[in-house]
Amino acid sequence: MEYQLDHETLQFISLALREPSSPSRLSQAKTQAKRIIERGWAFKADVEDLLYNFDSRLGYQVDIVKFSNMLEIHWEEVFFRPSAKSNYATGLTAVRAENLTHLLISLERIGFQTHPAIFVDLLLPRIKSRIKQVLNSAELEIFWFSKTRHRYEKIFLRTQFELKTIKTIASFTTVGNYHIVVRGMNNETSQLIEISSPKFRKRPDLIPVTCKDCGHQWHKGDPESSASHRKEHKRCMYYLDPQPLVNVLKERESAQDVELVTTNSPGWKHKEMYLRARAFKREFNYDFVQWQSDKGDNDPYVHGYLFTDGLGAIVGACSFRLPQRERALQQWTLDWIWICPRERRKGHLARRWKTFRERFGNFSLTFPISAEMKTFLAKHGDLKLMEK
Ligand SMILES: [Zn+2]
Repeated sequence: MEYQLDHETLQFISLALREPSSPSRLSQAKTQAKRIIERGWAFKADVEDLLYNFDSRLGYQVDIVKFSNMLEIHWEEVFFRPSAKSNYATGLTAVRAENLTHLLISLERIGFQTHPAIFVDLLLPRIKSRIKQVLNSAELEIFWFSKTRHRYEKIFLRTQFELKTIKTIASFTTVGNYHIVVRGMNNETSQLIEISSPKFRKRPDLIPVTCKDCGHQWHKGDPESSASHRKEHKRCMYYLDPQPLVNVLKERESAQDVELVTTNSPGWKHKEMYLRARAFKREFNYDFVQWQSDKGDNDPYVHGYLFTDGLGAIVGACSFRLPQRERALQQWTLDWIWICPRERRKGHLARRWKTFRERFGNFSLTFPISAEMKTFLAKHGDLKLMEK
């Protein structure tokens, strides 16, 4: 992480870090913290007092508003509530309690003794509450403070001036074990400060991996990405490696048209259709899923088919529709067909082809027709369907 400071601020930081620090006045700081958090805001004088109590090298000597801005932490103009009769309010510069905490975290990362945990502990319960779904950058820093503390990547503070021939003018470790190197021309003209956190470890490079079974891309070495792959893998393998389903076996005992799915079919059949329609969309990069939802499809002219195997597993699906404009002519369309890769070229479509031709006549095909499908049509003497 790199920040650009003006010359004056950089000189101040460079000298302040090299001064010995005196012990923090923690009890005063804790009282101040409570007051600031109750109000939600801190004024400039509050922040100066607070910094002085934490680390006397910081208080009163630096323009903290300007310095905060350089660290990308912003202050705002606020107003005390005016009386009902008043039409005038005086503006004051203040920083939100969360942004102040972010400032304390940043100053600690630079090598000062700013005890951010005092503020983090007070703010964290509200930030961690499940109701809060969106966090700004300050809240995010508070959210994972316990994980990132003292582990931050190297920070570079530089002036806006071009770096010429510079040398190391100081190299030391702070009481908090931050290692600091100051570079510049001489003691009065520091140009670059490098700060290393005591516990920083470079994370190993993440290796991108594509799962050969589900096709999901994830990063080896990143637990979050690995967990998201495991979840996706389980979801995809359900239709990529289908297993016999109790619902199918039960349906076989009673229903006549086990594989047919219409608007009145039970919910589980719609869920199975939707999964295959989505698999088709993904594989052929279609813009939308051609089944209304996993709860149902209210088109009275939709006829889906779940292709089941001898054991009762659903190995694929297809869907016919009778578009409104074609109803007079009864011109059906085969919208899509998807068979799981494991079961392709095993005759699942061929075994149903005769029934489809009898039921839907000379239906047309709308999807981009693959070379495989063309061969299939030729074999069945049905290339003419492509011209419909
Ligand atoms: Zn996978």
